[in-house]
Amino acid sequence: MGRGVDLMRKRRSIALPFFLTVLIAAATIAAFWFGRVPNALSPFPTISMQKQGQWFIDPRLATLRTDRALCNRVLSGPHIQASPIAPRPEKKGCGWSNAFRVSKAGGASISIRHLSCETTAGLNLWILDAVQPISQKMFGSPVSAVQNFGTYDCRNIVGNPMWKGLRSQHASANAIDISGFKLANGTKISVSKHWNDKGPKGRFLRHIHRKSCRYFRVSLGPNFNPAHHDHFHFDRGLFWTCK
Ligand SMILES: [Zn+2]
Repeated sequence: MGRGVDLMRKRRSIALPFFLTVLIAAATIAAFWFGRVPNALSPFPTISMQKQGQWFIDPRLATLRTDRALCNRVLSGPHIQASPIAPRPEKKGCGWSNAFRVSKAGGASISIRHLSCETTAGLNLWILDAVQPISQKMFGSPVSAVQNFGTYDCRNIVGNPMWKGLRSQHASANAIDISGFKLANGTKISVSKHWNDKGPKGRFLRHIHRKSCRYFRVSLGPNFNPAHHDHFHFDRGLFWTCK
């Protein structure tokens, strides 16, 4: 009898610290996920736009979300050309607050009128870390230009009836649709033409798409649904999907 009561007390005394630890861990993860941890308080070093193979990419990118001064500092260097644009205050779920005009990312030219700081940084690292080395290895040439279908678009999610009522990440300039690549040696690779290609162009596209999931929260390609047959959709919203 006495042993039974002791055991219950012991269990209770372990349960409370365990519950608190789980709660604190969950709150910390949520704070990082929602981009609420300022860079100065983050245990991780500031993300660099010049270094390849960095670790803990997601929480380090998330510290950029609302920190305009940090973004101005980080989004510069030889591989990236980005200039801050004036915010457009949110109206009916559309607008942006910390966005950039981008003409170069990962050493390749790209034409972007408005893209959030965080997604711009993810894009630069994906091109630098994955697209460029894979292109060099497979074709002996770097990528000189990346084509896109656009970033900002005040609209809801399309192609999935379940999410129909929700604003797309495009509505806050937090998403980009990548459609193709031009290599320095003249080779052209397009998602719509080459995704199912059995040769190197198809293998290249499928490989770089797989790699993209490290840099973006949502990474969709032609395998996801027919709405994405001709582009990769990348964003850094609050959902996580890699398909
Ligand atoms: Zn998209």
